[in-house]
Amino acid sequence: MGRVIAIVNQKGGVGKTTTAVNLSAGLALGGHSVLLIDADAQCSATSGYGIRLAEEEPSTYDVILGHATPADAARTTMLPSLRVVGASRDLVGAEIELVSVENRERRLREALATVRGAYEFILIDCPPSLGLVTLNALTGCDSLLIPLQCEYYALEGLTALLETVALVRDSLNPELAIEGLLLTMYDGRNTLCRQVAEDVKGHFRDKVFRTVIPRNVRLSESPSHGLPALLYDPGSRGALAYGELAREVAGEATDDVD
Ligand code: ADP
Ligand code: MG
Repeated sequence: MGRVIAIVNQKGGVGKTTTAVNLSAGLALGGHSVLLIDADAQCSATSGYGIRLAEEEPSTYDVILGHATPADAARTTMLPSLRVVGASRDLVGAEIELVSVENRERRLREALATVRGAYEFILIDCPPSLGLVTLNALTGCDSLLIPLQCEYYALEGLTALLETVALVRDSLNPELAIEGLLLTMYDGRNTLCRQVAEDVKGHFRDKVFRTVIPRNVRLSESPSHGLPALLYDPGSRGALAYGELAREVAGEATDDVD
């Protein structure tokens, strides 16, 4: 059965999409079968793979509203073991349309039940909000990967997110686990950045991924080429870090340096 991991943080710009694109690539390059679901109306994960959906093509919106199955909506990519369910602008409307729909928080969970057997990993790139689409992701996943940007306000909003997680566990998804907190955009020359990383590790300990994602320009350049950094510049520090994260997520990380 595939493991469903939602990449979530209601703050924008913390590295969710960069992580969704490059972690999915890292897992696929490591030989795993992966489905990436772009659940953000910004469509950045979709375009990060060079995909642009035509008007009539099924998207995450159609999957959540029940107009298409994930299998119908999954698009092939340049990586043979990776498929992407792309997002479209109408996902904004899903937040409103879902309000009056039966089982509105469980739509994605029910849809994913049909494809869990076909993939080892299903990753969901969430929008920067705690609205109904994110709630569908929290209800439909097994665990959360929470990117935290190494800056002063890193933990801002985390309390609200963890409160939402507690509510979801109480009712919609009792098994919901924290896969880990991921430190992103780390710059070792910046004292504040180092301090934030130390604080997060000190406070959340083994909930923090050992892999830390450095600030690296290749990670911000590669989306404009429609490629994950792992294909755009495989030897770059950003690509290597996401490769390492993929091994850590898959339980294959070997070194125990701490
Ligand atoms: P989110 O999905 O949380 O809004 P993104 O992944 O889109 O965040 O990242 C926000 C911006 O920061 C993007 O322009 C992205 O290219 C850039 N970025 C993300 N991670 C890194 C990194 N490790 N190094 C450099 N730039 C990064
Ligand atoms: Mg994003």
